[in-house]
Amino acid sequence: MNRWVIKIGSSSLTPGCEGGGLDTSAIDVWAEQVAMLVDSGAEVVLVSSGAIAEGCHRLGFDNNRSRNMHELQAAAAVGQVGLIEAYERAFQCHGMRTALVLLTHEDLSDRTRYLNARSTLRTLLKLGVIPVINENDTVVTDEIKFGDNDTLAALVSNLVEADMLVLLTDQSGLHDKNPTRFPDAKLVEAALASDPSLDAMAGRETGAFGSGGMFTKLRAARTAARSGAITVICDAHHPNVLLSLANGEQIGTRLSADLKVMDARKRWIAGQLKVSGTLTLDSGAVNALQQKGRSLLAVGVQTSRGNYVRGDMVLCTDTNGVHVAKGLVNYAYFEAQKMLGLTSGQIERSLDVIGEPELIHRDNLVVI
Ligand code: GLU
Repeated sequence: MNRWVIKIGSSSLTPGCEGGGLDTSAIDVWAEQVAMLVDSGAEVVLVSSGAIAEGCHRLGFDNNRSRNMHELQAAAAVGQVGLIEAYERAFQCHGMRTALVLLTHEDLSDRTRYLNARSTLRTLLKLGVIPVINENDTVVTDEIKFGDNDTLAALVSNLVEADMLVLLTDQSGLHDKNPTRFPDAKLVEAALASDPSLDAMAGRETGAFGSGGMFTKLRAARTAARSGAITVICDAHHPNVLLSLANGEQIGTRLSADLKVMDARKRWIAGQLKVSGTLTLDSGAVNALQQKGRSLLAVGVQTSRGNYVRGDMVLCTDTNGVHVAKGLVNYAYFEAQKMLGLTSGQIERSLDVIGEPELIHRDNLVVI
């Protein structure tokens, strides 16, 4: 395992939870292990939460979730200083530097900014610097937010083509039922990321400070699998957690990447959270996309909704609303509307639409 993305959750960074500041001695322990990994030839990117928690602590906010959005954004700005200070100081002890990289979903959905972020991260890794990534909470609101760093870490794993994504958390891994409520819950030691039986186990509960629960971790593992990364969900405070993982020891839940590895462009498409419209496909079109890897033609589209323009991301569903694919559409809503249900020949004859014969070309389409 050479390239690692390690995500550290808020609950692990602030053990006292409500009102407690950063656990800097825990950061020191992880930094020491990361330094040893790098010494042995690994490249490591950290994705760290904890800015809001630390900011609330510094500002004397007792209960962070009762604060309004702008107070939390302000807290993130204050706390981010403490967070990077703690990492920089911890890595300095090992003669290493850290770099602060704050990303938003918009940064990763814009192709140029995405490629720039990738080049910068690759350069930092080549320079032996440890990138510490967090969401830029100061400028994002709910609608355009990753919301949880599990998702961000998974997209970063795709971006840097990591071999392993480690999600360090306050639980020992994914259990077959909620371990806080059922004492007989069993740890899932290994599974395929795509295994549908995991969905029911993951649930949707989150902690007091972190916004991601097991559900987002499972989804993150599936995203990371698109670029072939294995995901391990494990207890952040397990003794020597990172070194033990590097030695191949069984810790936590290991979710293997059995999904077909997508090329980088398709991963970028699949990673988009913001969709501008929805197309409802008939069963013929669903089959052409899912089974034959074809482009989407207007003839197989029954309805179209949204205020999309050429190049926007649209979601394709079947007639029951089940998500089938996502892709970059070749026509704006008002043009597509006139084409629905028509064959390419009919479109050419009856409309003055000149352009691509497909609504979404297969190179710009990802089956979900
Ligand atoms: N970006 C948030 C923070 O640093 C944490 C997001 C999450 O809970 O995963 O506080």
